[in-house]
Amino acid sequence: SGAAEPPPRLVIDLERLQQVPTEKAGPLMRYAATIQSQRGDYNGKVLSIRQDDLRTLAVIYDQPPSSLTEELINWGVLGSDARGALDV
Ligand code: C2E
Ligand code: C2E
Ligand code: C2E
Repeated sequence: SGAAEPPPRLVIDLERLQQVPTEKAGPLMRYAATIQSQRGDYNGKVLSIRQDDLRTLAVIYDQPPSSLTEELINWGVLGSDARGALDV
């Protein structure tokens, strides 16, 4: 409730993502791989992404950001606290 609190981080569980069927996970896997490459961040089991990246992914998946967030939570790829990351 504190206005000064930062929003929750969007932390992708990369190992869990490997277990999601490729037809669903493919675009997110390619997007995450691109960010890892840009950062030179290859060793992580998780990847923190920008809020803007979730909005971009929502366009790629042709869903509202809130709906994509719910789907990623159902996959176990995002934690349930990610719901609050869009309230800004
Ligand atoms: P950039 O956006 O010009 O950021 C340059 C550098 O500023 C980054 O180098 C990083 O050291 C720092 N930086 C910028 N924003 C943040 C932030 O929110 N948190 C943290 N911890 N550092 C930040 P880095 O990491 O080597 O990334 C190089 C370039 O790769 C970035 O240039 C950007 O174009 C792209 N990139 C990296 N990670 C992401 C990402 O999560 N999303 C998007 N859209 N692009 C990313
Ligand atoms: P945190 O943000 O809660 O992250 C906890 C741990 O999750 C990190 O431990 C790291 O092992 C992993 N992790 C989270 N996001 C990423 C990611 O995008 N890539 C990879 N490879 N691993 C990730 P670590 O590295 O020892 O960092 C401990 C704490 O230090 C972090 O807790 C955070 O509070 C701070 N920290 C580390 N790097 C950054 C950064 O670039 N920006 C900011 N603002 N804080 C950072
Ligand atoms: P973080 O590093 O703890 O940054 C938290 C928020 O602070 C970012 O949320 C962004 O709003 C702001 N911020 C931090 N550094 C910068 C910066 O250099 N420039 C600007 N304009 N804003 C900055 P955001 O964008 O949602 O990113 C969430 C997390 O994703 C970051 O947490 C970081 O862990 C990761 N991340 C995002 N972009 C990059 C990047 O370019 N490089 C790396 N290494 N990590 C990034």
